[in-house]
Order: sequence, then structure tokens, then C-alpha cells
Amino acid sequence: MRPGEGRTKLTETLTEPVRAHRELEHLDVLIVGAGISGIGAAHHLHEQCPEKIFVVLESKPNFGGTWQTHRYPGARSDSDLYTYGYRFKPWTGAPIATKDEILKYMSEVIMDEDLDRHIRYEHQVTSASWSSAEKRWSLNVTRSDTGEHVQLTATFLWMCQGYYRHSVGHTPSWVGMDQFAGPIIHPQSWPDDLEYVDKDVVVIGSGATAATLIPALAQECRHVTMLQRSPTYFFIRSNVNEVADMLRELDIPEEWVHEIVRQKILLDFAAITKLALEFPELAREELLKPIREILGDDYDIETHFNPKYKPWRQRIAMVPDGDLFEAIKRGKVSVVTDEIDSFTKTGIKLKSGATLDADVVITATGFDMSVLGDIAFSIDGRVLDLSQTITYRGLMFTDVPNLLQVFGYFRASWTLRVDLIGDFSCRLFDYMESHGVDVVTPRLRSEDADMTLLAWVNPEDFNPGYMNRSVHLFPKQGSRDPWRNGLTYELEKETLPAADFEDGSLLFT
Ligand SMILES: Cc1cc2nc3c(=O)[nH]c(=O)nc-3n(C[C@H](O)[C@H](O)[C@H](O)COP(=O)(O)OP(=O)(O)OC[C@H]3O[C@@H](n4cnc5c(N)ncnc54)[C@H](O)[C@@H]3O)c2cc1C
Repeated sequence: MRPGEGRTKLTETLTEPVRAHRELEHLDVLIVGAGISGIGAAHHLHEQCPEKIFVVLESKPNFGGTWQTHRYPGARSDSDLYTYGYRFKPWTGAPIATKDEILKYMSEVIMDEDLDRHIRYEHQVTSASWSSAEKRWSLNVTRSDTGEHVQLTATFLWMCQGYYRHSVGHTPSWVGMDQFAGPIIHPQSWPDDLEYVDKDVVVIGSGATAATLIPALAQECRHVTMLQRSPTYFFIRSNVNEVADMLRELDIPEEWVHEIVRQKILLDFAAITKLALEFPELAREELLKPIREILGDDYDIETHFNPKYKPWRQRIAMVPDGDLFEAIKRGKVSVVTDEIDSFTKTGIKLKSGATLDADVVITATGFDMSVLGDIAFSIDGRVLDLSQTITYRGLMFTDVPNLLQVFGYFRASWTLRVDLIGDFSCRLFDYMESHGVDVVTPRLRSEDADMTLLAWVNPEDFNPGYMNRSVHLFPKQGSRDPWRNGLTYELEKETLPAADFEDGSLLFT
């Protein structure tokens, strides 16, 4: 299935009762966002809390979130789909998947469980206000197709809005950009009619997006230059999972293959992460070794691929079969490590004095983070400043009632946390139901009063540019549980299912 087709097909399956459903004013749970988190949340609600009336509101015309927004050539995952896929839906393809394969996988989840009847596309949530008297959220929603204004109320908000602004990517401004004769394109807003065949293209940036885009462009452009200010780590791996292939040869059911391979990858990754954190120099050498093998001893690896920061301080992009480096070896791609002085009519002038000619410039310069989907929140008439709150386990916030959010792992696949939060949320709903309470609000206990407050993410631990630019807008975390954030999957797979709702950190009313 191609992106865009799924939605038409799914929408055609809508039935009369479903349309009636859409007219409901009040929902038990409102999920914001139909990306991999929102569809996962819908699955868990559907499966674990079938009595809950819920809707997913999505501002785009289709599901997929990140995989809908990023339409540039070569867009693909940078982690394996055995762990990026849901725990409940076996992944049967190659470990690294294209955006179309991920969208197809998500469309199957939606179709298998008939989730489309819960999803309302082109519904942008603009504001949400909590009323303690009414014990509910009131939502203002704008329909992006008709401009119509819609109001809804919901007992619970399950925020699956992702972590960055989808409407526009992050492009720094450089002197002379308006002089450049060709197009300057951010990968987040890739035009379908961009002409790059047989052209000279400069891609600014060397993160995961550049690493996936460049090998695809290299097949059709005259030449691609990857222009980076500083080097990034890459993780070269074959895009084959031998354990999965062996199990399939033995006719092992796909559910088993998925679970076994998932566990194996998690174990391997935990070991790699430990190595990177405890023995960074050894990890650095392990990451550079396969690059040296492809590019040879004469290539200046030190300048272009040996970062100053320690491995894992930023997400490491997986490069399947080393395709980026093979394209460099073939001479189709060159790497320049320098800083931009200014744009000229024909390209880019660098601070070293060198110039790069370009027909097209791609700014793979990242994105801007968005806190809770840029929705204006208020509580009993007071504007909510999320940066003044403290997170409860990275999924709720002090003094913010009945609101859960999904924020995935940076070092492990995002979706691992989608499933854990799905279980946590449904267990919380069941607990509240069985105790006859309607509202849950995280609140510091007296013993937490002296707790040290820290940034949402420790900059010593994880410090990409997009996080550094926005961390001040995010809630704080505490120095002890249950107020810590950014823990590992290995830890949370034990702590989240065991979280004690009666430890005094959650106020039920
Ligand atoms: C190019 C790229 C590749 C990536 N690859 C990986 C990978 O391989 N592995 C990995 O673990 N992570 C990866 N990530 C991180 C990735 O963002 C997450 O893995 C995951 O896609 C996040 O899913 P999500 O559903 O939480 O958010 P998103 O995918 O961001 O989706 C959020 C959805 O919410 C909607 N929304 C937001 N605000 C509102 C609102 N106010 N009203 C209505 N709807 C709203 C958006 O339109 C969007 O559809 C990648 C990120 C990028 C940009």
C-alpha cells in the first residue's frame, strides 16, 4: 500500500453506527495524534479497556505521523522494526524499513482492529481547558479541511503528539539565502516536483535524515555533498536479521520470531549501550572500524567521521549495509566538514574560504521540539506553563489532572515505551474504575519537597541540538522515583508494570 491509499480505503469502511459515534460530545479518553504512539494507544484501549469510548484526533489527513510528514527520497527507520514495531504485531520484513513499509504495517493494525472508526483526521486540537468542577477537559478543535470549529469534552487526555513540530522544520538563517538561485528545501517539507536528477546537490547536516536521504539522492543526482559542521556517529549493520531468517526456515510462527528476535536485539543493544557509556573509546573504535573498512586508510575519517562527543550522547543512526559510505566510495558523495559563511547565487561560501556549487540545497538541519502538540492548556482558568511542572515517570505532570503523554526512548526504539505506557494507562483506568474515582493528579509528597529538580533530559547524558534549544520549555524531573524521566527500557519494563498507585504521589478524587 502506498501512503495516502490506506486512509481512503479505511475511511470507505465507515458504517452508519460509526458516524453516529462521531457525534458524541463527551469521550472517556481522547487520544491526540495518529502516529505510531496514537495508533498504539488506540490498540491498547480497544484491547484492554473495551468499554471506554474514545476518539483519536489527528491534524493531518492520514495516519502515520513522522512517516507521513517525512516524504523525502529514501525516508526510512533508523532503528530495527522488531523493536520499533509493536509488541503485539509481528514484523516480517527486513530490520530497517522504508516509510511506506512502516505505513503499511500501521494500516494493517488499523484494519485488523477496525480502529479507523475511532480516528478523526484533519482535526487539530488548539486548546484544552480542565474544569475541576466538571471533572473534564474541554477541547477546541479546528478542522483543517473545512476550517470548522469543533468542541468536545473528555475525561482523559492521552497525548500522542510526538516531540517535534510537524508543520515546519528547523532551518537556521544564513546570510545570502535569498540570493541563491536554486531551491532550498527542508526534508520535512519535501515538494513532490523537486527536480534533482543529474543536479549538484548540497545537503546541510549529517544526522539520521541526511544519512538516509543522501544514498537515495546519490542514485539520481550528478553529485551530492554532505556539508557538516561537525561529525556524527553512524552504526553500520547488514539489513538482514540472521536469527529471524533461520527461525523462519524452521517454520517457527511469526509471533515467536518477532518475540525472540526482539528480545535478542534488546539484549544486544543493552550491551552496546553499556559499552558506549562505560568504555566510550572502545565503542568509538567499534563504530569507526567498519567505516574504515569501506573507505580505506587514505580517507580522512578523523576529520569527517570521528565526533568530539562520546558515543550515545546523541541518537546513533543505523546505516544499513553501509550504503552512505558505499556512495562515498563510488565518488557520488563527498563530505565537507566546515562552517557556512554565506549563500551565493551559485552555492555556498564556507568559512575556510572554499565554495560549494549547488543547483539544490537541502537543509537536513533538524526540527523544533513541540511541547504537547502546541496546544494552549489551562486548568481552572489558569494558563498551564508545563515548564513549571515536574514529571511523574515521564508520562504525567504535577498538578495536571487526567493527562497522560507518550514520550518514547531516544536510545531505544520509541515504540517500546508506547506499549509500556499502554499497559500502565489501562491499569490506571481499571484502578480508578474499581475505586470509584474520576480524577488522578500527580502531586509531590512531603518527603519530595527537598528533592533536587533537574532538566527533562540531563544534558550530560543526551544533548542533540533540538533538545538543547527547547529543554527549558519542558517539565522538570526529580532526583528520585517516581519523578525521574529518561530511564531505560530495561529498567522501565520492570518499574512501570509494578508502579504503585498508592505510594502517595498520585492524588485520586
Ligand atoms: C525521519 C525520522 C526517522 C525516525 N526514525 C526513528 C526510528 O527508526 N526509531 C525510533 O525509535 N524513532 C525514530 N524517530 C523518532 C520518531 O519521531 C518516533 O519514533 C515516532 O515516530 C514518534 O511517534 P509519535 O506517534 O509519538 O509522534 P509523531 O510521529 O510525531 O506523530 C504525532 C502525530 O500527532 C499529530 N499532532 C500533533 N499535535 C497535534 C494536535 N495539536 N492536534 C492534532 N494532532 C496533532 C501530528 O500531526 C502527528 O501525526 C524518527 C524521527 C524522524 C523525524
